[in-house]
Amino acid sequence: MRAFTYSSQPARVVFGAGTLSRLPEEVARLGATRALILTTPGRTDLARRTREILGAAAAGEFAGAAMHTPVDVTERAVAVARELAADCLVAVGGGSTTGLAKAVSVRTGLPQLVVPTTYAGSEATPVLGETESGTKTTRSAPEIRPGTVLYDVDLTLGLPVPVSVTSGINAMAHAVEALYAPETDPVTDQLALQSIELLAGALPRIVADPADREARADALEAAWLAGTCLGSVGMGLHHKLCHTLGGSFGLPHAPTHTVVLPYAMAYNAPAAPDAMRRIARALGAADAPTAVHDLIRRLGAPTSLAELGLAETDLPHAVELATATPYPNPREVTTDGIAALLQAAFSGRRPA
Ligand code: NAD
Repeated sequence: MRAFTYSSQPARVVFGAGTLSRLPEEVARLGATRALILTTPGRTDLARRTREILGAAAAGEFAGAAMHTPVDVTERAVAVARELAADCLVAVGGGSTTGLAKAVSVRTGLPQLVVPTTYAGSEATPVLGETESGTKTTRSAPEIRPGTVLYDVDLTLGLPVPVSVTSGINAMAHAVEALYAPETDPVTDQLALQSIELLAGALPRIVADPADREARADALEAAWLAGTCLGSVGMGLHHKLCHTLGGSFGLPHAPTHTVVLPYAMAYNAPAAPDAMRRIARALGAADAPTAVHDLIRRLGAPTSLAELGLAETDLPHAVELATATPYPNPREVTTDGIAALLQAAFSGRRPA
């Protein structure tokens, strides 16, 4: 018999098309009047649009968000927030921008309103990963979770296909690992399965037509569900490996998740047969790890760590880092097992 403990996570979520125009009312709802807009350097057009929509409630912009939330960037953003006397943060962008909002918020206490434009799912979690001197550290606290999330499907129509695919598989990874997390519960299970099914249906349609609004809506909804899973239960081997490869070897977040997922699933499959059966059913396939690998290949995404620029000589150090501290995972994490997993992921061969 299954036993579980479930706590629902408070968050206000606004989902739809064109919802960016609802920003002023959402900022006012927080009682705020001076929003600092956060984005990545490439999205200054979006920052400008957001500023226009916010009108007098916009205090200024900081367009310096970067992958893996470097602490020096956060410190600069905190200085800007203080200079402008900002009273809330409006983050418009992917997981990097959301990470910056969390990092600034945790240092200043400013409330966050997050507008996600990728499928990373960080907006639904109380987790913040930060990098300093080549090391990524993660912390989790209820106050880190953004209080308001505004999903605007229209903002994802221009997300380039390669980013859409890898970001979508990043979301799928949260759902997959939630299904074999030790503390999982029936609510999280259903969110995870629905997310996997939506992503498997939406991603091929997005590759065929990136402006397919219904497919984009399915993918964004799936991202929210998967992010909720990530924010509710602990992740296992797959997230640990990606965290190591991103934080210590500078590999890009979503492409790394995309390459590693089928191999982490194949490693865990013997110890999580029930989760794998349910994932396979959601994918309409017989075997979950190979179905995910085949989907990624069909979508034209990277399938090997070599493609992402990892040097084969880095593999032993990656194994060492990924096995240094124990963490919950359905199958025992051994040095030999992880060495074989990473070697297979390095080559990109179809998992057995
Ligand atoms: P990202 O935010 O770096 O975005 C990738 C690129 O796509 C950027 O150049 C960005 O400017 C661009 N972009 C984003 N949305 C766009 C759009 N709609 N149209 C065109 N271009 C767009 O990447 P990501 O994968 O979303 O996030 C990765 C980061 O998020 C990592 O630092 C990762 O650690 C973090 N993350 C954290 C959590 C958590 O719970 N703490 C969860 C997932 C990811």
